[in-house]
Amino acid sequence: MQVPLLDLKAQYATIKDEMAPALQSVMDSQYFINGPEVKELEKAVARYSDCAVAVGVSSGTDALLAALMTLDIGAGDEVITTPYTFFATAGSIWRTGAKPVFVDIEDETFNIDPSKIEAAITDKTKAIIPVHLFGQMAEMDPIMEIAKKHNLYVVEDAAQSIGSTYKGRKAGSIGTVGAFSFFPSKNLGGLGDGGMVVTQDAELGERLAQCRNHGSKPKYYHKWVGGNFRLDTLQAAGLIVKLRHLDYWSEGRRANAAKYDALFADFEPVKTPVIRDYNVTIYNQYVVRVPKRDDLRAFLKENDIGCEVYYPRSLHEQKCFASLGYNRGDFPESEKAADETLALPVYPELTDEQIQYVAGKVKEFLG
Ligand SMILES: *Cc1c(COP(=O)(O)O)cnc(C)c1O
Repeated sequence: MQVPLLDLKAQYATIKDEMAPALQSVMDSQYFINGPEVKELEKAVARYSDCAVAVGVSSGTDALLAALMTLDIGAGDEVITTPYTFFATAGSIWRTGAKPVFVDIEDETFNIDPSKIEAAITDKTKAIIPVHLFGQMAEMDPIMEIAKKHNLYVVEDAAQSIGSTYKGRKAGSIGTVGAFSFFPSKNLGGLGDGGMVVTQDAELGERLAQCRNHGSKPKYYHKWVGGNFRLDTLQAAGLIVKLRHLDYWSEGRRANAAKYDALFADFEPVKTPVIRDYNVTIYNQYVVRVPKRDDLRAFLKENDIGCEVYYPRSLHEQKCFASLGYNRGDFPESEKAADETLALPVYPELTDEQIQYVAGKVKEFLG
């Protein structure tokens, strides 16, 4: 049996008939930049995420970058985030000229530990970027409280979490802004790169829309410098189709996760994901902690099971950030997670047989 980590072809087969006319319509219109589908998707994502405004952008990375640029964050500023995330979170801070300041994660959820944030705040701190990792939202209540007390922006990195909730509130709807990614392997994946910024602040939304188009308003007049961060019309057309299915797919992921949870329930070596009872996750990844992680990973690959390590090296240990002055040992939970975690296939189209095969092979190796 073969079980890939993600099978985009299986998903495409279920929506092929809807996708073709949506894309054909854009090609017939030849309206490739800022076409009507971009506005339509923005409205749909704003509604879906309980936000006032959504601004389509060229990637999740550019969603973060445009958000930080629009909040006027740059040289001399500090932005707090976790070292256990995809590179783009800290990379975007760095590219504005601001300094990424890391705070360790909680061992249970892999998300930023709110109890450690205040110690990292200085008079240069401008923002906190909580990352809703693997589909589960960070502890937004204490984070928002700290941000309010210290007058900081909160940029939700919701690249892996569109549609997830924290105490009934949608990812992206709580902070100053939220950033989504439509990278093909994300839960709402496009036909290439894409992203979106959401906010409750209409005025900020207006400036975000300018930022994605070189800060231009009116055309050819620039009060400030933005970039080309636009979302293609073709991407928007494809994403409109897929958004209609997103909740169904998320249900499928949760059902698959529950099956793994049950199969590993009495198997001590595997620590299954901890989802707080007030959270609903969308399981962008189903990540377990295991002993002998690298050996298990090799064994699963030999048995045609796709699996991946998110992420093998914490950001504070990346060469490009050496000048920040961090050392091994500075963020023990993050380092431990980098050594112990393994993502197993959880995509919605998995069959019960495939799930049993994966769990069986994990148990065979660790048992
Ligand atoms: C994927 C991802 C991004 C970047 O999104 P892209 O669309 O790939 O640029 C940022 N942050 C996190 C946590 C991600 O998983």
